[in-house]
Amino acid sequence: MRRLWRRARLHVTIMPYLVMLCTCVSDRVRRACEARGLGTVAVNVARHRLDDLGDPQVLKTLTGWVRASAVLGVWASLPCATWRSGAARMRNLESPLLGSRPTEADRRALRSANALAAATIQLIRECIFHRVPIIFVHSESSLIWNHPLLSPLLSSSSSSCSLDSCMYSGRVRQRMCLVGWGVRDLHLLARRCHCAQGLCDRTRRRHLGGLGRPALDAVVRASSDGLPSEVSSAGTDMIVGEARQLSRAAKYKKFFGD
Ligand SMILES: [Zn+2]
Repeated sequence: MRRLWRRARLHVTIMPYLVMLCTCVSDRVRRACEARGLGTVAVNVARHRLDDLGDPQVLKTLTGWVRASAVLGVWASLPCATWRSGAARMRNLESPLLGSRPTEADRRALRSANALAAATIQLIRECIFHRVPIIFVHSESSLIWNHPLLSPLLSSSSSSCSLDSCMYSGRVRQRMCLVGWGVRDLHLLARRCHCAQGLCDRTRRRHLGGLGRPALDAVVRASSDGLPSEVSSAGTDMIVGEARQLSRAAKYKKFFGD
């Protein structure tokens, strides 16, 4: 964690603002933050055990930063694999934390995915409590939205939207939801592709990843970085804008100017 913190400080040009990216947030968000002179700390479960948000010690450190007002805002997401609505034996609508017919390997995957989700939700609660703007992104069809600890928080969100990534860039249509707490204008980013006659509304060509060939579709999906750059930039600007409004920002006004 110290290594992450140091790396973030190295990239900061507007001190002491910091945006925290938690688990599977698109690299485009990091680029958007760094382009604005913001330090970023990316905590990714897949890279290093010490950076695992599911680890209680890591969560304690992160929530400590939030409480200490060291964090300007947070982008959070989660690995999609176990949350897809298609994986019914692992999870389903009635039982989003444990499906009806999981194998032993499924159980292991579910345990770590559930721990990570619980930690992320705890972080969202801390951000809400301490008025730190946070955006959570996930696929619209994901079962995470039915998580018993997340769904009650959704009604207290300050803005949200659903968008198709192809309406911004690329030829893969990924329908994702952004939910914000302490971030007001996410609805401005909503764009839907109606896919009339099988063609994308924006490019007027067929979407990739919907080719009906599962192996190829999986490759296309894996290689596409879901969150479009424009959305990453706009969301980051919203977080910065909100932070300026907060009393915490006044403390560091000299870094932003008037
Ligand atoms: Zn489209």
